[in-house]
Amino acid sequence: MSELEQLLRGRGYRLTNQRRVIGRELEGARHLSAEELYERVRGANPEIGLSTVYRTLDLLHELGVVRKEDFGEGYSRYELATERVHHHARCRECGAVIEFNEELMEYLALQVERETGFVTDWHEITLHGRCASCQRSAISGQL
Ligand SMILES: [Zn+2]
Ligand SMILES: [Zn+2]
Repeated sequence: MSELEQLLRGRGYRLTNQRRVIGRELEGARHLSAEELYERVRGANPEIGLSTVYRTLDLLHELGVVRKEDFGEGYSRYELATERVHHHARCRECGAVIEFNEELMEYLALQVERETGFVTDWHEITLHGRCASCQRSAISGQL
């Protein structure tokens, strides 16, 4: 029995085919939007519609199986919650998402607490800017 199936069963849900297909897709790729997920699964699974993808993602999010992330694009991206906690930096040119680890963030939260007394219990940040390869092509474009 897969981890996903165990989790669903424990909460009284069945592992339907669409839940399995979407779960497997999320295992293979990170930071997918609902539309991207739909594009990936529709070929082999024509019975899965975009609304099913949204509903399934909502359920998995509610169950704590997937994390929902907002990179300021006007829609959410999803990744499995089993991934190690990390934060994101997103390139505004090409959309690449780079991950950085939790320790840096904890250090920052600690500094904020020291300076202001504010105790953080939840944080999620996304850095916005340009990735290394977009910076390189910007520089070569100037030459
Ligand atoms: Zn880039
Ligand atoms: Zn991520």
